[in-house]
Amino acid sequence: MDTQVKKLGLKERYAAMTRGLGWETTYQPMEKVYPYATYEGIKIHDWDKWVDPFRMTMDAYWKYQGEKEKKLYAVIDAFQQNNGFLGITDARYVNAVKLFIQGVSPLEYYAHRGFAQVGRHFVGEGLRVACQMQSLDEIRHYQTQTHAISTYNKYFNGMHHSLHWFDRVWYLSVPKSFFEDALTAGPFEYLTSISFSFEYVLTNLLFVPFMSGAAYNGDLATVTFGFSAQSDESRHMTLGIEAIKFMLEQDPDNVPIVQRWIDKWFWRGYRVLTLVGMMMDYMLPKRVMSWREAWEIYGEQNGRALFRDLARYGIREPKGWLDAIDGKDHISHQAWNTFYNYNAAAPFHTWVPTDEELDWLSAKYPNSFDQYYRPRLEFYREQHRAGNRFYNKTLPMLCTVCQIPMLFTEPGDPTTICYRETDYQGDKYHFCSDHCKEIFENEPEKYVQSWLPVHQIYQGNCFKPGVDPTQPGFDPLMAVFDYYDLDFGRDNLDFEGSEDQKHFAAWRGQALQNTV
Ligand code: FE
Ligand code: ZN
Repeated sequence: MDTQVKKLGLKERYAAMTRGLGWETTYQPMEKVYPYATYEGIKIHDWDKWVDPFRMTMDAYWKYQGEKEKKLYAVIDAFQQNNGFLGITDARYVNAVKLFIQGVSPLEYYAHRGFAQVGRHFVGEGLRVACQMQSLDEIRHYQTQTHAISTYNKYFNGMHHSLHWFDRVWYLSVPKSFFEDALTAGPFEYLTSISFSFEYVLTNLLFVPFMSGAAYNGDLATVTFGFSAQSDESRHMTLGIEAIKFMLEQDPDNVPIVQRWIDKWFWRGYRVLTLVGMMMDYMLPKRVMSWREAWEIYGEQNGRALFRDLARYGIREPKGWLDAIDGKDHISHQAWNTFYNYNAAAPFHTWVPTDEELDWLSAKYPNSFDQYYRPRLEFYREQHRAGNRFYNKTLPMLCTVCQIPMLFTEPGDPTTICYRETDYQGDKYHFCSDHCKEIFENEPEKYVQSWLPVHQIYQGNCFKPGVDPTQPGFDPLMAVFDYYDLDFGRDNLDFEGSEDQKHFAAWRGQALQNTV
């Protein structure tokens, strides 16, 4: 018997383990098996031109991931056994973790589903294998984040019902609608939205601030899942740039289609990042860098180099580019102001920054903070001290596309709220910007279906079954919180006086002092 087996080189092995997996159908035409490969108008002439720079095969994938998993769970276990949460800077930090588990981790799960689905619809095996791996990475991210953060859920409020909130609570509809927009697009638009615009262009602005924020604030559990996801992220970013170049190189007719998607998804991603900007500037007791600085490094500098590189395909920078640059001095402050106002309806805490923190913001935002935002925060603080902590009891108008309340101001004029509207089939629709308006006008049939939390509340769709709004003394806001399963007075309201604040002070006191 001939037992001589030729050992394959990396390249041959990769080809055998990936390209060898596909086939041409015989008893059904290929177009019927892959209907979505053509309907967006993207033309692919040679699927084999797709190159995976990592040349990762499935068996190697499981081996690497298994090793990373073992290390990660050892650290999470040690963190929990040693009451690692007592080592964080202060309990305000946990609100950044709440925002993450409420608004970001569910996106990992959506990404898992999205890549599983689009992988099915691509004809080329190389791209399908890449999507399959990313789909597995993403469910891993969802799981590792949930496990790492579960330790905080034992000790702090605002995390016990994060998935329930994701489907209902007003600000969580911002990341939710972003991803659902991508999931309901065709496979090539999905790649442009998630792989390119999100993973390649914007992911550093999401993960670097959260993970270095965790490191600066003593949260080893979060840092570790961040590190464990990092090598996955580098594959995802590469998939994103490969996907864009593949589409652009296959046919010149693809260029205008891809350009419109880049315009759309850059702006949608940028709007979601408002939450990250706010987290960086207001929610980290120990700051890493300002949103403005992060935007300049990871947004402006990287983006400029990228779009210079893509210019040879006929791609220009996204339409919202200059307005995004204009927003860097403002959006984090405008968002925190909104959450401070509407903190009765949000399951995390807000506060006015300390004097030292206000000075930091003044130094980091020389063009805007003292002039527009500091006086307002100081006024809030005075009012709070006088016993008038302000909670807004009205509901804000939302942008039909990004679903963010109308909190942004006109480019170049930070004292005027930016507001746009359009009519479609007899109804009026409202937008936060020219770019959200344009996204709507390109696909109105899609966005008229938006589940806008404020509209749903006013239409009476956000009360528990059996609730009767005509009863005397009916309090609609409390009925909505009940529908949210928001534990009033524990999950929401100001950090000052919260259970989180009191508990953490008591626990830390016990850890550092003798009790009699
Ligand atoms: Fe992920
Ligand atoms: Zn908008």
